[in-house]
Amino acid sequence: MILITGGAGYIGSHVVRDLADKGYSVLVLDNLSTGHVESVDERAIFIRGDMGDRGVLEEIFAAYPIKAVMHFAGSCLVGESVNFPLKYYHNNVSNTVQLLHKMIEHKIRSFIFSSTCATYGIPNQETITEFLTPNPINPYGKSKLMIETILNSISEIYDFQYITLRYFNVAGAHHTGEIGEDHNPESHLIPNILGHLQGKTPYIEIFGDDYPTPDGTCIRDYIHVTDLSEGHILALEYLLQSSSQKIAETFNLGNERGVSVLEMIKLCEQVTGVKAYVKMQPRRIGDPPRLVASSRKIKDMLGWSAKYDIKTTIETAWNWYQKHPNGYKEKNNPHQ
Ligand code: UDP
Repeated sequence: MILITGGAGYIGSHVVRDLADKGYSVLVLDNLSTGHVESVDERAIFIRGDMGDRGVLEEIFAAYPIKAVMHFAGSCLVGESVNFPLKYYHNNVSNTVQLLHKMIEHKIRSFIFSSTCATYGIPNQETITEFLTPNPINPYGKSKLMIETILNSISEIYDFQYITLRYFNVAGAHHTGEIGEDHNPESHLIPNILGHLQGKTPYIEIFGDDYPTPDGTCIRDYIHVTDLSEGHILALEYLLQSSSQKIAETFNLGNERGVSVLEMIKLCEQVTGVKAYVKMQPRRIGDPPRLVASSRKIKDMLGWSAKYDIKTTIETAWNWYQKHPNGYKEKNNPHQ
């Protein structure tokens, strides 16, 4: 059985579903602070609980034969982390340390960690490889890098192995349109553009057009959530097949293609056939100008490849928003 913390969140819920499709038994631990129980596949066991609650972790590890942990639970907004750093150090660092403690106590040796390209800071390379020395510029990236450092230390001394996945910008929705992105408030670019194109907001705000990029807006590398999920499952299988050898690896997960904010707005207009109205705003604190991945390492070592391009990624997100204009509110809870 695989423990998925944060399995009711956007990324976690897609991984849970893909794992269940592959025949894995899955246990989800989520406090529903930002997740939705409606998004948790009915084949998974769902426990509502907080990572900060040692008792819940103890009960889970004592009662279920957990072979590996995928750790999605945490806070993940750059802007929020600048304003509320302690929230980030508490949720992302303290709670993860507690989880790692319990794993070591219960001799659970395999861990997959959700990290981020925000660990790189403002890179001096066009495409970022894992060899670049991390230098995060916001508390979100710093909190994730702290756990990466801790993982490295504990794997040196305990029978413990891990894979860190540094996500670039995750986007899109499940191909069925049954699960997708639903944050409140929403701050991510593609959901904000599509929400505007659905008529929810009068314009889309662009945070800064004076960056050192060709059109002055920030460039990001958008990866479809299903491709990201596939990367997790390959990483899990890589860990589970290693019995004597200990694995300690870090992989980027991105599409290796940079898209600016202005280009993204145009692409969304093309996919939806709806015209966008934009409003220029000052820069958002903590945003690096350009973050584009090299995913060569995970391609070479685990045979991963991206199946979705940027247009199909937008199409799947649009499909989800068309089917669920109010997100998960109208869906039934499969865990009652
Ligand atoms: N962005 C924007 N308008 C929005 C949301 C985001 O201009 O309504 C910009 C943001 O400043 C950043 C890029 O789009 O340069 C991607 O932001 P997002 O929050 O989606 O992801 P992040 O890169 O911060 O993880």
